[in-house]
Amino acid sequence: MRNICKGWGEIYKGWGRVATPSLSEIEEKALKMVKEAGEALQCDLWKALNVSSREGSRITLRLERKGLVKREPVVYNKRKTYRIVLVQRTFKVNIDDIVGCPCFSCPDIERCAPGQPISPGRCPALTKWLEAEASTLEEAA
Ligand code: SF4
Repeated sequence: MRNICKGWGEIYKGWGRVATPSLSEIEEKALKMVKEAGEALQCDLWKALNVSSREGSRITLRLERKGLVKREPVVYNKRKTYRIVLVQRTFKVNIDDIVGCPCFSCPDIERCAPGQPISPGRCPALTKWLEAEASTLEEAA
């Protein structure tokens, strides 16, 4: 079971890269600040980023459109601004989605690991199964 976890970890890392939207340097910086603080006021964020209020607004709007943060209107010091809240991205795995994975019945499970001669990254059975799963998802979309 330990090897499955290592193998799936490698695969999930790859999926994560595909799923993450591309960010500009300033967007990454803004997102990092929100992550570290848990949430932030838009007016504080643009000051901390050393950009104009208009640019700060555009940055948070782009992050919201990319599904990374949510902007909630608030009044702070009698002025309208937004509270920027991190969107929690949860990754749910349903057992029905992985029940056909060849790793569960693989005779090489004990020798299979990333970087080894037998590895998930070079496994034809796993690749075939993943491609079939991907085409099923594409057909459903
Ligand atoms: S060899 Fe392939 S099927 Fe077997 S455990 Fe490794 S990745 Fe899974």
